[in-house]
Amino acid sequence: MLMYDLLQKYFGYTSFYPLQEDIIKEVLEHRDVFVLMPTGSGKSLCYQLPALLFSGVTIVVSPLIALMKDQVDGLLANGIPATFINSSLSYHEIDTRRQQLSNHEIKILYVAPERLLMSEFLEFVQGLKVSLFAIDESHCISEWGHDFRPEYRQLKILKEIFPHIPVIALTATATQVVQDDIIRQLKLSRCKVFRASFNRKNLYYQIKPKQEPLRQILQYLEGQRKDSGIIYCQSRKAVENLASGLQKKGYRALPYHAGLTAEVRTEHQERFIRDDVEIIVATIAFGMGIDKPNVRYVIHYDLPKSIEGYYQETGRAGRDGLPSECILFFSYADKFKIEHFIQQKKDENEKQIAYRQLRELITYCESNVCRRKLLLAYFGETFEGPNCGGCDVCLEPKERFDGTIAAQKILSCVYRTGERFGINYIVEVLLGTRNQKVLQNQHDTLKTYGVGKEYSRLQWQSFIRELIQFGYLRLDGDEYPILKLHEKSRPVLLGNEKVSLIKPEEKLPVQKTEEYEAYDHTLFERLRTLRKTLADQEGVPPYIIFHDTSLKEMTTYYPQSLLDLRKISGVGDQKLMKHGKVFIKEIADYCEQHHIMPKQIAQEHSESPVKQTKYSTVQTTLGLYQQRLSIHEIAQKRGLALSTIVSHLEKLILNGESISIDGMVNSEKQNHIREVLNKFGMDRLTPVKEKLGDGYSYEEIRLVRVKMMCESGRK
Ligand code: ADP
Ligand code: ZN
Repeated sequence: MLMYDLLQKYFGYTSFYPLQEDIIKEVLEHRDVFVLMPTGSGKSLCYQLPALLFSGVTIVVSPLIALMKDQVDGLLANGIPATFINSSLSYHEIDTRRQQLSNHEIKILYVAPERLLMSEFLEFVQGLKVSLFAIDESHCISEWGHDFRPEYRQLKILKEIFPHIPVIALTATATQVVQDDIIRQLKLSRCKVFRASFNRKNLYYQIKPKQEPLRQILQYLEGQRKDSGIIYCQSRKAVENLASGLQKKGYRALPYHAGLTAEVRTEHQERFIRDDVEIIVATIAFGMGIDKPNVRYVIHYDLPKSIEGYYQETGRAGRDGLPSECILFFSYADKFKIEHFIQQKKDENEKQIAYRQLRELITYCESNVCRRKLLLAYFGETFEGPNCGGCDVCLEPKERFDGTIAAQKILSCVYRTGERFGINYIVEVLLGTRNQKVLQNQHDTLKTYGVGKEYSRLQWQSFIRELIQFGYLRLDGDEYPILKLHEKSRPVLLGNEKVSLIKPEEKLPVQKTEEYEAYDHTLFERLRTLRKTLADQEGVPPYIIFHDTSLKEMTTYYPQSLLDLRKISGVGDQKLMKHGKVFIKEIADYCEQHHIMPKQIAQEHSESPVKQTKYSTVQTTLGLYQQRLSIHEIAQKRGLALSTIVSHLEKLILNGESISIDGMVNSEKQNHIREVLNKFGMDRLTPVKEKLGDGYSYEEIRLVRVKMMCESGRK
């Protein structure tokens, strides 16, 4: 079968993401390949699709045991025979799976390296026909990477034991050094390197001054109560506080940090993945092992450690390609906290690295240059174009005003209080509050006391931050940073220099979505509920049923027949048969209630390469059918199996060709097959065949089934 056929049939997609096709072609040529692409760019497909074409099994090595079950469930839901073997299984289960492997019933096997490399298991693998090794998260092999795992080191013997089996190594994180190291360690020979852009187009980057973070977060969350998100904090204590703060406000939020037991952590992660809770508040320990596609926002409550860390953490948002937000709350107090922390480090080298990372991050936060441009520059990529359309700098340009007077008030207040206080104190004096400390220091007698009532507390804080950025003020000290004047302050105080500041406005954060996500939100909620019910029944995460992308497309086009549903991205044949009917019914009911007509699914879908390539062979079958040949004759004439001809007919029928099966299955048989299909469901044929007995062939059942699929939508 052709690549595009498989892509549609098993994955429900009509086109490849960038590089996927080239990589797959290379893999199909049995060559070693190294793939460096960011999260969400579709790396898995690069070995999953070839696996379907290879005659043997593809073995995927992954360090993330917790993830294997979900990955395999995802493949099974698409009708791909996959399994995993790891320590979570009983001896008996492992034995059964090994049996399946020996019987060639499995196309994709997931294992952890420590399992694969057990000598007994290696022997077993040597007895299998292995077509490909895929090494996922391959940066774990390198000590230079940020996630070195000793078990990975041993993978170097793979090439010694299996010199002729190609290897595809994949990672989302690698500097040049790590890349070279991976290739050397795995002994990949003359391997082609594929490197995708690190630009995550669907992520919206913004930096907010950290003023009253809890209130700011609550305000933000108000707009997305039902979306999934991750909030990163620096310390366990902050995690606990924020999680309980959100719970008190009625949010379903759970903490995640190294202080919790492994069981609790797994449970919380699981509940997040299954959409039982929307929010995970976590230290950076969270995220490595999750594949959740619909994380709609990642918030950094505290400063991340480095730009690289920030990129990885924000990268967990929007894996499914839908618009998602990354918000970082920045304050100088946090910067000082981290500096203080770094100072305590013993190792001089480590200290220097940490300082450098912090400096880079602060530059990023303070900058007025497009965030995307800076992030990509960090990975050695240049972002072309004046406006990225996806960051606060580009989309929320700040209006400025002559802020000289406000600046003078601040500077003179700092001066009069003796350059001994921090930001908040200065603001209290400007506002003229009856603050205990202010009164004790008799600063209520100063000329600047209470001269700043025209702006709010938040506003003064951000003016001060700006003055720091522009060098009119500086922060000094470790734990309690205090404001000091600078040589640049003088001319301002004397009235010789004007200062332009960002115009005050206390507006809500810009809400992304609405504009470019013109889907039906009410229906989306209904489908989401339906999906959750089905997922819970099956004990799988909701995204295994359908991704958000698919649901959103459904609520854009309102497909009401299986025929149309099949055109929705992510709806492969297996899912179409298994869940198609229920979803169409939900959509149809909704449309009836609201008098909505289905929309034509965008042309690009029907004219995509799928349809074009597929048709060369399928079209030949159609031609022969139209010449009134029987399916047996067609099969014979073309030298193809009967089942292949039937799959052509299935496609033709699903694509709306008028094809009658009456000449192929007599009406008595048809009725009987219908009865049994109605009872057993359409997704699995074996029980249906067993029930019907020897008098009925799989081909006959399939033909009746595809007819039923088309009717059910049309009624
Ligand atoms: P990665 O492993 O690189 O992080 P995944 O393999 O998890 O990426 O894929 C990211 C998302 O993109 C998944 O939701 C996947 O289903 C989807 N996807 C992958 N390839 C395609 C494609 N060709 N068309 C549409 N969606 C795709
Ligand atoms: Zn930008």
